[in-house]
Amino acid sequence: MNILVVNAGSSSLKYQLIDTDTNVVSAKGICERIGMEGSLIEHKQIVKGLKTKEASPMKDHADAMKIVVKYLTDSEYGCISDMNEIQAIGHRVVHGGSFFSGSILMTEEVLEKLELCREFAPLHTVAHLMGIKGCLEAMPGKPQVLVFDTAFHQTMAPEAYIYALPYEYYEKYGIRRYGMHGTSHRYVSAEMIKLLGKPAEETKIVTCHIGNGSSISAVKGGKVMDTSMGFTPLAGVEMGTRCGDIDPAIVPYIMDKKGLTGAQINDIMNKKSGFLGITGVSSDSRDLEDAIADGPSNPNYEKSLLAVNILKHQIKKYIGSYAAIMNGLDAVVFTAGIGENNINLREMVCSDMEFLGIEIDAEANKLAFRTSEITKISKDSSKVAVYVIPTNEELVIAKDTAAIVATL
Ligand code: ADP
Repeated sequence: MNILVVNAGSSSLKYQLIDTDTNVVSAKGICERIGMEGSLIEHKQIVKGLKTKEASPMKDHADAMKIVVKYLTDSEYGCISDMNEIQAIGHRVVHGGSFFSGSILMTEEVLEKLELCREFAPLHTVAHLMGIKGCLEAMPGKPQVLVFDTAFHQTMAPEAYIYALPYEYYEKYGIRRYGMHGTSHRYVSAEMIKLLGKPAEETKIVTCHIGNGSSISAVKGGKVMDTSMGFTPLAGVEMGTRCGDIDPAIVPYIMDKKGLTGAQINDIMNKKSGFLGITGVSSDSRDLEDAIADGPSNPNYEKSLLAVNILKHQIKKYIGSYAAIMNGLDAVVFTAGIGENNINLREMVCSDMEFLGIEIDAEANKLAFRTSEITKISKDSSKVAVYVIPTNEELVIAKDTAAIVATL
Protein backbone atom coordinates (compact mmCIF):
# COMPACT_ATOMS: atom_id res chain seq x y z
CA MET A 1 0.00 0.00 0.00
CA ASN A 2 1.20 3.53 -0.75
CA ILE A 3 0.86 5.56 2.45
CA LEU A 4 1.54 9.27 2.69
CA VAL A 5 3.05 9.98 6.11
CA VAL A 6 2.50 13.54 7.28
CA ASN A 7 4.16 15.36 10.17
CA ALA A 8 2.49 18.75 10.40
CA GLY A 9 4.09 21.56 12.39
CA SER A 10 2.65 25.03 12.85
CA SER A 11 4.39 26.48 9.79
CA SER A 12 5.93 23.37 8.26
CA LEU A 13 4.80 20.02 6.95
CA LYS A 14 7.09 17.04 6.42
CA TYR A 15 5.97 14.13 4.27
CA GLN A 16 7.09 10.73 3.01
CA LEU A 17 5.44 8.41 0.53
CA ILE A 18 6.08 4.85 1.72
CA ASP A 19 5.16 1.56 0.06
CA THR A 20 4.33 -0.65 3.04
CA ASP A 21 4.69 -3.85 1.01
CA THR A 22 8.37 -3.15 0.26
CA ASN A 23 9.12 -0.53 2.99
CA VAL A 24 10.51 1.67 0.21
CA VAL A 25 10.29 5.44 0.60
CA SER A 26 9.69 6.71 -2.92
CA ALA A 27 9.57 10.44 -2.15
CA LYS A 28 9.88 12.78 0.77
CA GLY A 29 10.10 16.46 1.50
CA ILE A 30 9.13 19.44 3.55
CA CYS A 31 6.94 22.50 3.05
CA GLU A 32 8.21 25.47 5.05
CA ARG A 33 6.97 28.93 6.00
CA ILE A 34 3.34 27.90 5.48
CA GLY A 35 1.09 30.94 5.95
CA MET A 36 4.06 33.32 5.68
CA GLU A 37 5.96 35.26 3.04
CA GLY A 38 8.44 33.11 1.12
CA SER A 39 6.89 29.65 1.60
CA LEU A 40 8.73 26.89 -0.21
CA ILE A 41 8.82 23.17 -0.84
CA GLU A 42 11.87 20.95 -0.80
CA HIS A 43 11.08 17.66 -2.51
CA LYS A 44 13.15 14.54 -3.11
CA GLN A 45 12.28 11.78 -5.55
CA ILE A 46 14.31 9.03 -3.94
CA VAL A 47 14.04 6.34 -6.59
CA LYS A 48 15.34 8.61 -9.38
CA GLY A 49 17.63 10.51 -6.98
CA LEU A 50 16.14 13.89 -7.93
CA LYS A 51 15.89 16.89 -5.62
CA THR A 52 14.18 20.23 -6.02
CA LYS A 53 13.58 23.29 -3.86
CA GLU A 54 11.07 25.83 -5.09
CA ALA A 55 9.23 28.88 -3.81
CA SER A 56 5.52 28.22 -3.81
CA PRO A 57 2.83 30.29 -2.11
CA MET A 58 0.98 28.34 0.62
CA LYS A 59 -1.52 30.29 2.68
CA ASP A 60 -2.39 27.27 4.82
CA HIS A 61 -1.82 23.52 5.27
CA ALA A 62 -4.45 22.72 2.63
CA ASP A 63 -2.40 24.66 0.07
CA ALA A 64 0.71 22.83 1.23
CA MET A 65 -0.98 19.44 0.78
CA LYS A 66 -2.15 20.39 -2.72
CA ILE A 67 1.44 21.27 -3.63
CA VAL A 68 2.71 18.01 -2.14
CA VAL A 69 0.24 16.09 -4.30
CA LYS A 70 1.33 18.13 -7.34
CA TYR A 71 4.98 17.13 -6.77
CA LEU A 72 4.14 13.50 -6.02
CA THR A 73 2.28 13.25 -9.34
CA ASP A 74 4.68 15.44 -11.36
CA SER A 75 5.97 13.81 -14.56
CA GLU A 76 9.58 14.61 -13.65
CA TYR A 77 9.76 14.74 -9.85
CA GLY A 78 6.81 12.52 -9.06
CA CYS A 79 6.59 8.83 -8.30
CA ILE A 80 2.88 8.17 -8.87
CA SER A 81 0.68 9.14 -11.79
CA ASP A 82 -2.45 9.88 -9.86
CA MET A 83 -3.57 10.80 -6.34
CA ASN A 84 -5.65 7.59 -6.30
CA GLU A 85 -2.40 5.65 -5.99
CA ILE A 86 -2.16 6.94 -2.41
CA GLN A 87 -4.28 4.57 -0.33
CA ALA A 88 -4.27 6.56 2.91
CA ILE A 89 -2.60 9.23 4.99
CA GLY A 90 -0.89 8.59 8.34
CA HIS A 91 -0.33 11.53 10.68
CA ARG A 92 2.26 11.84 13.39
CA VAL A 93 0.49 13.31 16.43
CA VAL A 94 2.57 14.47 19.38
CA HIS A 95 0.06 14.20 22.22
CA GLY A 96 -2.94 11.95 22.61
CA GLY A 97 -3.51 12.57 26.34
CA SER A 98 -5.10 9.56 28.03
CA PHE A 99 -7.61 9.30 25.19
CA PHE A 100 -5.54 7.31 22.74
CA SER A 101 -3.56 4.16 23.54
CA GLY A 102 -3.09 3.17 19.92
CA SER A 103 -3.34 4.40 16.35
CA ILE A 104 -6.83 5.23 15.17
CA LEU A 105 -8.82 6.08 12.04
CA MET A 106 -9.76 9.75 11.93
CA THR A 107 -13.48 10.37 12.47
CA GLU A 108 -15.49 13.35 13.76
CA GLU A 109 -15.46 11.80 17.24
CA VAL A 110 -11.69 11.29 17.14
CA LEU A 111 -11.20 14.91 16.09
CA GLU A 112 -13.32 16.06 19.05
CA LYS A 113 -11.04 14.14 21.42
CA LEU A 114 -7.96 15.49 19.67
CA GLU A 115 -9.30 19.01 20.25
CA LEU A 116 -9.18 18.20 23.99
CA CYS A 117 -5.45 17.41 23.69
CA ARG A 118 -4.79 21.07 22.87
CA GLU A 119 -4.52 21.60 26.63
CA PHE A 120 -1.41 19.42 26.79
CA ALA A 121 0.43 20.39 23.60
CA PRO A 122 -1.21 23.54 22.25
CA LEU A 123 1.16 24.40 19.41
CA HIS A 124 1.59 20.85 18.16
CA THR A 125 -2.09 19.90 18.39
CA VAL A 126 -3.24 22.99 16.53
CA ALA A 127 -0.69 22.20 13.82
CA HIS A 128 -1.86 18.57 13.58
CA LEU A 129 -5.48 19.69 13.29
CA MET A 130 -4.47 22.05 10.48
CA GLY A 131 -2.59 19.20 8.78
CA ILE A 132 -5.59 16.86 9.03
CA LYS A 133 -7.99 19.51 7.74
CA GLY A 134 -5.53 20.37 4.98
CA CYS A 135 -5.52 16.72 3.86
CA LEU A 136 -9.32 16.60 4.00
CA GLU A 137 -9.46 19.57 1.65
CA ALA A 138 -6.67 18.51 -0.70
CA MET A 139 -7.60 14.81 -0.80
CA PRO A 140 -11.28 14.51 0.13
CA GLY A 141 -12.42 11.05 1.13
CA LYS A 142 -8.91 9.68 1.65
CA PRO A 143 -8.72 7.68 4.91
CA GLN A 144 -6.56 9.36 7.54
CA VAL A 145 -5.00 7.58 10.51
CA LEU A 146 -3.56 9.25 13.60
CA VAL A 147 -0.45 7.77 15.23
CA PHE A 148 0.37 9.22 18.65
CA ASP A 149 3.78 9.79 20.25
CA THR A 150 2.22 9.15 23.65
CA ALA A 151 0.32 5.94 22.80
CA PHE A 152 3.08 3.38 23.43
CA HIS A 153 3.51 4.73 26.96
CA GLN A 154 -0.12 4.14 27.92
CA THR A 155 0.82 0.75 29.39
CA MET A 156 2.51 2.36 32.42
CA ALA A 157 1.02 1.53 35.81
CA PRO A 158 -0.32 4.36 38.00
CA GLU A 159 2.75 4.19 40.23
CA ALA A 160 4.83 5.20 37.19
CA TYR A 161 2.55 7.91 35.85
CA ILE A 162 0.97 9.56 38.90
CA TYR A 163 2.92 12.44 40.43
CA ALA A 164 2.85 12.79 44.22
CA LEU A 165 0.88 16.02 44.01
CA PRO A 166 -2.68 16.55 45.30
CA TYR A 167 -4.58 13.77 43.52
CA GLU A 168 -7.23 16.18 42.27
CA TYR A 169 -4.66 17.70 39.88
CA TYR A 170 -4.64 14.38 38.07
CA GLU A 171 -8.42 14.07 38.14
CA LYS A 172 -9.25 17.66 37.26
CA TYR A 173 -6.38 18.68 35.00
CA GLY A 174 -4.99 15.39 33.69
CA ILE A 175 -1.59 16.06 35.27
CA ARG A 176 0.35 12.81 34.97
CA ARG A 177 3.32 11.34 33.14
CA TYR A 178 2.46 10.79 29.48
CA GLY A 179 5.90 10.31 27.91
CA MET A 180 6.91 11.15 24.33
CA HIS A 181 8.80 9.62 21.36
CA GLY A 182 6.58 6.54 21.85
CA THR A 183 6.64 5.61 18.17
CA SER A 184 10.43 5.55 18.24
CA HIS A 185 10.63 3.56 21.49
CA ARG A 186 8.10 1.14 20.04
CA TYR A 187 10.03 0.67 16.79
CA VAL A 188 13.47 0.16 18.32
CA SER A 189 12.23 -2.07 21.15
CA ALA A 190 10.36 -4.26 18.63
CA GLU A 191 13.53 -4.56 16.52
CA MET A 192 15.53 -5.39 19.66
CA ILE A 193 13.03 -8.07 20.69
CA LYS A 194 13.55 -9.74 17.29
CA LEU A 195 17.32 -9.68 17.86
CA LEU A 196 17.10 -11.13 21.37
CA GLY A 197 15.43 -14.22 19.99
CA LYS A 198 13.50 -15.06 23.13
CA PRO A 199 9.77 -14.75 23.84
CA ALA A 200 8.75 -11.10 23.79
CA GLU A 201 7.07 -11.41 27.22
CA GLU A 202 10.41 -12.29 28.79
CA THR A 203 12.41 -9.34 27.43
CA LYS A 204 13.71 -6.39 29.48
CA ILE A 205 15.01 -3.51 27.41
CA VAL A 206 16.06 0.08 28.04
CA THR A 207 15.60 2.24 24.95
CA CYS A 208 17.57 5.50 24.84
CA HIS A 209 16.19 7.95 22.26
CA ILE A 210 18.84 10.67 22.44
CA GLY A 211 18.46 13.54 20.01
CA ASN A 212 17.67 17.21 20.33
CA GLY A 213 14.87 16.01 22.54
CA SER A 214 15.70 12.87 24.49
CA SER A 215 13.79 10.22 26.37
CA ILE A 216 14.59 6.86 27.89
CA SER A 217 12.11 4.03 28.41
CA ALA A 218 11.96 0.78 30.34
CA VAL A 219 10.25 -1.75 28.03
CA LYS A 220 9.41 -5.01 29.77
CA GLY A 221 7.70 -7.75 27.80
CA GLY A 222 7.26 -5.31 24.90
CA LYS A 223 5.35 -2.84 27.09
CA VAL A 224 6.49 0.44 28.58
CA MET A 225 6.91 0.27 32.36
CA ASP A 226 8.32 3.75 32.74
CA THR A 227 9.69 6.57 30.65
CA SER A 228 11.75 9.65 31.40
CA MET A 229 9.61 12.36 29.79
CA GLY A 230 6.61 13.38 31.81
CA PHE A 231 3.60 15.63 31.63
CA THR A 232 5.56 17.53 28.98
CA PRO A 233 8.73 16.83 26.95
CA LEU A 234 10.73 18.95 29.40
CA ALA A 235 11.28 16.12 31.88
CA GLY A 236 14.02 13.48 31.95
CA VAL A 237 17.61 13.88 30.83
CA GLU A 238 19.45 17.02 29.76
CA MET A 239 18.67 17.90 26.12
CA GLY A 240 19.80 20.35 23.44
CA THR A 241 18.00 23.32 24.99
CA ARG A 242 15.82 21.67 27.67
CA CYS A 243 16.92 21.23 31.27
CA GLY A 244 15.34 17.83 31.94
CA ASP A 245 14.68 16.90 35.58
CA ILE A 246 15.48 19.57 38.15
CA ASP A 247 14.40 20.16 41.73
CA PRO A 248 10.94 21.75 41.19
CA ALA A 249 11.60 24.22 44.01
CA ILE A 250 14.21 25.91 41.78
CA VAL A 251 11.37 27.28 39.64
CA PRO A 252 9.70 29.59 42.22
CA TYR A 253 13.14 30.43 43.65
CA ILE A 254 14.50 31.76 40.35
CA MET A 255 11.21 33.44 39.48
CA ASP A 256 11.49 35.34 42.74
CA LYS A 257 15.22 36.14 42.42
CA LYS A 258 15.00 37.34 38.82
CA GLY A 259 11.44 38.64 38.79
CA LEU A 260 10.39 36.23 36.04
CA THR A 261 6.87 35.23 35.05
CA GLY A 262 5.83 31.59 34.67
CA ALA A 263 6.00 31.94 30.90
CA GLN A 264 9.53 33.37 31.08
CA ILE A 265 10.94 30.62 33.29
CA ASN A 266 9.19 28.04 31.11
CA ASP A 267 10.91 29.56 28.09
CA ILE A 268 14.30 29.43 29.83
CA MET A 269 13.85 25.78 30.84
CA ASN A 270 12.72 24.80 27.34
CA LYS A 271 14.84 26.96 25.07
CA LYS A 272 17.85 28.25 26.96
CA SER A 273 18.92 25.31 29.12
CA GLY A 274 20.44 21.90 28.42
CA PHE A 275 23.62 21.88 26.30
CA LEU A 276 22.95 25.48 25.34
CA GLY A 277 22.45 26.62 28.91
CA ILE A 278 25.59 24.92 30.23
CA THR A 279 27.95 25.86 27.38
CA GLY A 280 26.36 29.20 26.54
CA VAL A 281 27.35 28.45 22.96
CA SER A 282 25.53 25.58 21.30
CA SER A 283 22.66 23.12 21.61
CA ASP A 284 24.20 20.82 19.01
CA SER A 285 26.18 17.86 20.33
CA ARG A 286 28.54 18.04 17.34
CA ASP A 287 29.79 21.45 18.48
CA LEU A 288 30.36 20.08 21.97
CA GLU A 289 32.23 17.07 20.59
CA ASP A 290 34.43 19.33 18.46
CA ALA A 291 35.31 21.49 21.48
CA ILE A 292 36.11 18.39 23.54
CA ALA A 293 38.30 16.99 20.74
CA ASP A 294 40.26 20.28 20.61
CA GLY A 295 41.17 19.92 24.27
CA PRO A 296 41.72 22.61 26.93
CA SER A 297 43.01 25.14 24.38
CA ASN A 298 39.43 25.52 23.15
CA PRO A 299 37.60 28.12 25.32
CA ASN A 300 34.47 25.95 25.23
CA TYR A 301 36.25 22.75 26.24
CA GLU A 302 35.40 22.64 29.94
CA LYS A 303 31.74 23.53 29.68
CA SER A 304 31.27 21.18 26.72
CA LEU A 305 32.82 18.36 28.69
CA LEU A 306 30.63 19.20 31.67
CA ALA A 307 27.46 19.24 29.54
CA VAL A 308 28.28 15.84 28.02
CA ASN A 309 29.28 14.43 31.41
CA ILE A 310 25.94 15.51 32.88
CA LEU A 311 24.08 13.67 30.13
CA LYS A 312 26.27 10.58 30.54
CA HIS A 313 25.66 10.56 34.30
CA GLN A 314 21.91 10.88 33.85
CA ILE A 315 21.62 8.16 31.18
CA LYS A 316 23.58 5.78 33.44
CA LYS A 317 21.17 6.55 36.28
CA TYR A 318 18.15 5.82 34.10
CA ILE A 319 19.62 2.54 32.86
CA GLY A 320 20.37 1.46 36.43
CA SER A 321 17.01 2.47 37.82
CA TYR A 322 15.09 0.93 34.94
CA ALA A 323 17.03 -2.33 35.32
CA ALA A 324 15.92 -2.23 38.97
CA ILE A 325 12.20 -1.77 38.26
CA MET A 326 12.29 -4.46 35.55
CA ASN A 327 14.26 -6.81 37.83
CA GLY A 328 16.84 -7.35 35.10
CA LEU A 329 18.15 -6.16 31.79
CA ASP A 330 18.61 -7.94 28.46
CA ALA A 331 19.45 -5.04 26.22
CA VAL A 332 20.16 -1.35 25.93
CA VAL A 333 19.33 0.38 22.65
CA PHE A 334 20.63 3.75 21.46
CA THR A 335 18.74 5.68 18.80
CA ALA A 336 18.02 9.18 17.32
CA GLY A 337 20.58 11.81 16.22
CA ILE A 338 22.93 11.55 19.19
CA GLY A 339 22.21 7.93 20.08
CA GLU A 340 22.94 6.83 16.51
CA ASN A 341 26.02 9.00 15.94
CA ASN A 342 27.77 10.02 19.13
CA ILE A 343 30.43 7.35 19.62
CA ASN A 344 31.99 9.10 22.60
CA LEU A 345 28.79 9.47 24.59
CA ARG A 346 27.79 5.82 24.04
CA GLU A 347 31.21 4.68 25.20
CA MET A 348 31.04 6.91 28.29
CA VAL A 349 27.55 5.68 29.19
CA CYS A 350 28.41 2.00 28.78
CA SER A 351 31.81 2.08 30.50
CA ASP A 352 32.10 0.98 34.14
CA MET A 353 28.77 -0.84 33.95
CA GLU A 354 30.17 -4.37 34.18
CA PHE A 355 28.36 -4.94 37.49
CA LEU A 356 25.13 -4.70 35.49
CA GLY A 357 26.44 -7.03 32.78
CA ILE A 358 27.25 -4.33 30.22
CA GLU A 359 30.55 -4.67 28.36
CA ILE A 360 30.98 -2.31 25.44
CA ASP A 361 33.04 -3.28 22.38
CA ALA A 362 34.96 -0.07 21.66
CA GLU A 363 35.79 -1.02 18.07
CA ALA A 364 32.25 -2.07 17.17
CA ASN A 365 30.96 1.12 18.79
CA LYS A 366 33.09 3.22 16.42
CA LEU A 367 31.38 1.59 13.43
CA ALA A 368 27.93 2.78 14.50
CA PHE A 369 28.11 6.23 12.93
CA ARG A 370 25.96 7.74 10.19
CA THR A 371 24.72 4.35 9.13
CA SER A 372 21.25 3.02 8.59
CA GLU A 373 22.46 -0.42 9.72
CA ILE A 374 21.60 -1.98 13.07
CA THR A 375 24.92 -2.38 14.92
CA LYS A 376 25.78 -4.48 17.96
CA ILE A 377 28.21 -2.51 20.12
CA SER A 378 28.59 -4.89 23.07
CA LYS A 379 31.12 -7.71 23.39
CA ASP A 380 29.93 -11.27 22.83
CA SER A 381 30.69 -11.89 26.51
CA SER A 382 28.42 -9.03 27.60
CA LYS A 383 25.35 -10.35 29.45
CA VAL A 384 23.42 -7.30 28.31
CA ALA A 385 23.29 -6.75 24.55
CA VAL A 386 23.90 -3.14 23.53
CA TYR A 387 22.73 -2.06 20.08
CA VAL A 388 22.48 1.03 17.96
CA ILE A 389 19.18 0.81 16.08
CA PRO A 390 18.38 3.70 13.72
CA THR A 391 14.84 4.76 14.44
CA ASN A 392 12.13 4.85 11.78
CA GLU A 393 9.01 6.51 13.12
CA GLU A 394 7.65 7.12 9.62
CA LEU A 395 7.68 3.41 8.82
CA VAL A 396 5.70 2.66 12.00
CA ILE A 397 3.17 5.35 11.05
CA ALA A 398 2.86 3.94 7.52
CA LYS A 399 2.48 0.34 8.76
CA ASP A 400 -0.14 1.26 11.37
CA THR A 401 -2.04 3.24 8.76
CA ALA A 402 -1.93 0.38 6.26
CA ALA A 403 -3.07 -2.12 8.91
CA ILE A 404 -6.06 0.03 9.91
CA VAL A 405 -7.02 0.81 6.32
CA ALA A 406 -6.84 -2.88 5.41
CA THR A 407 -9.71 -3.55 7.82
CA LEU A 408 -12.04 -0.96 6.25
P1 ADP B 1 15.31 15.86 16.98
O1 ADP B 1 15.03 15.57 18.42
O2 ADP B 1 15.18 17.30 16.62
O3 ADP B 1 14.65 14.90 16.01
P2 ADP B 1 17.77 14.52 16.20
O4 ADP B 1 17.35 13.16 16.57
O5 ADP B 1 17.98 14.83 14.77
O6 ADP B 1 16.87 15.64 16.87
O7 ADP B 1 19.13 14.82 16.99
C1 ADP B 1 19.83 16.02 16.91
C2 ADP B 1 21.16 15.84 17.61
O8 ADP B 1 21.83 14.73 17.02
C3 ADP B 1 22.10 17.03 17.52
O9 ADP B 1 22.67 17.32 18.78
C4 ADP B 1 23.16 16.57 16.54
O10 ADP B 1 24.44 17.04 16.91
C5 ADP B 1 23.14 15.07 16.65
N1 ADP B 1 23.42 14.49 15.35
C6 ADP B 1 22.55 14.35 14.33
N2 ADP B 1 23.17 13.81 13.25
C7 ADP B 1 24.45 13.63 13.60
C8 ADP B 1 25.59 13.12 12.93
N3 ADP B 1 25.51 12.68 11.67
N4 ADP B 1 26.76 13.08 13.60
C9 ADP B 1 26.82 13.49 14.88
N5 ADP B 1 25.78 13.99 15.57
C10 ADP B 1 24.61 14.05 14.95
